[in-house]
Amino acid sequence: MNPTVAVSRRGARRLQGGHPWVYRSDVEDSDLPAGPVHVRDVRGRFLGCGLWSPQSEIRLRLLTSDDVTIDEAWWAERIAQAVARRAHLVPGTTAYRVVHAEGDGLPALVIDRYGEFVVVQLLTAGIEAVRHDVLGAIGSSLQPAGILLRNDASVRRHEGLPLAIEAIDGSVPERVEVRVGTVRYWALLRTGQKTGAFLDQRANQQLMERVALGRALDVFTYQGLFAIHMAHRADSVLAIDSSAPALDVARANAQLNAGGPIEWLEANAFDALRSLDDDAAQFDTIVLDPPAFAKSRNAVSAALRGYKEINLRALRMLAPGGRLLTCSCSYHVSRARFLDMLASAAADSGRRIVLERLVGQSDDHPEVLTVPESSYLKGALVRAD
Ligand code: SAH
Repeated sequence: MNPTVAVSRRGARRLQGGHPWVYRSDVEDSDLPAGPVHVRDVRGRFLGCGLWSPQSEIRLRLLTSDDVTIDEAWWAERIAQAVARRAHLVPGTTAYRVVHAEGDGLPALVIDRYGEFVVVQLLTAGIEAVRHDVLGAIGSSLQPAGILLRNDASVRRHEGLPLAIEAIDGSVPERVEVRVGTVRYWALLRTGQKTGAFLDQRANQQLMERVALGRALDVFTYQGLFAIHMAHRADSVLAIDSSAPALDVARANAQLNAGGPIEWLEANAFDALRSLDDDAAQFDTIVLDPPAFAKSRNAVSAALRGYKEINLRALRMLAPGGRLLTCSCSYHVSRARFLDMLASAAADSGRRIVLERLVGQSDDHPEVLTVPESSYLKGALVRAD
C-alpha cells in the first residue's frame, strides 16, 4: 500500500484543472522517500496516484486520477497506449518519440525509438525510484534490441539526481542509421543533442522537403537534417552551424542520401547572415532553427532581439516569392510574442510578408492545452512577395 499525501486546496484545484504538478508549497510537509503515493485533498477526498520527489520544487506529479496500483503492468499499458496513438506516423519512419512525458500523461518519462533501440530519460526522483518497473515495461512493450538511459539532462539536478548515461539490456551502438520518409541519417545516441536527434522537427523537415526550391539556406543546421531534406528539391543548399563536430555528422548524413549539392559552412550564424546580407545574397528558401535563445524568463527580451535580428536578415534575403521557415524552441518565448517579433521584422524588411502556415513540434510530441510546459517549439512558414 502506497503512502498518502494531502495537497492544499490550491494544489487540488490545479490538479483538477488538468495540470499534473503539485509544488512544494501546495503539499503537506512529509519526509516520504521518492516513489508512488496516493493523493488526497485536505478534506480527505481521493485525487489520484502520483510520484513523489522529495527534493524538488515540484514535489508531486500526478499519473492518474484512478485508484490503481502503479506497477510494471500499469506502465506497460500506458506505454502501449502511447504506441497506439502513433499508428498513423509516416510509414517508414524509424526514429520518433514514443512517449513525450506530460504530453502522453507520463510525467518525467521520455522514450525515443531509433530503429531497434530505445533511448529513455527518467527526469525526476519519483520516476527514478520506480525505474525497475518502468524499464521492465519498456522492455516488454517495445521489445528493443537495447535500451540507453540518457539521464544526463540537467533538470535532474533540481531533483538531487546524478547525471549519467547508461546502457541497459543489450549493447547499444554509438550510432544507429535511421530513416524518415526518403531521408536516412545517423543518430548518435550517446553524444547527440537531446536523445540523439531533434525528433521534434521531423514534420517541419518534411514540410521543407516539399516546399524547397532554387537556392536554399539552412541556418543552425546541426547534423544537416533540414539541408538534406531540402536538397531533394532545391538546386543547391548552403548549411551553416558553429559546431564542427555537428557538421562532420552532417556530411556523413549527406552521403547516405541523394540530392543536390550542399555546402557546409562552419560559422557563427549572426556573422554569416550579416555578411550574406551585406553582399545582397538572395535565397529562394531559408530555414532558421536556432537553439533556445531564452533559457529563462529573464532572458526573453534579449532573446527577442536575437530572433528579430536573424529573421530580419533572412526576410531581406528572400528572393521574390521565396519562403522562410522560422522557428523558436524557447519555452519562455510564447507563440504570440514570437509572431509579434516576426511581424516587426517583416515591417522593418519593407517586404510584404505572407503567413502561409503556423507550425509546431511534430505530433509525436503532443501538447496538452492545460499543460503549457508540454509545448515549446513554435514556428511559421512565410512567403515574401
Ligand atoms: N536544425 C537542426 C537543429 C538545430 S539545433 C535540426 O533540425 O536537427 C541548434 C544548432 O545551432 C546546434 O547545432 C548548434 O551548434 C547551433 N548553434 C548555436 N549557436 C550558434 C551560432 N551562434 N551560430 C551558428 N550555429 C549555432
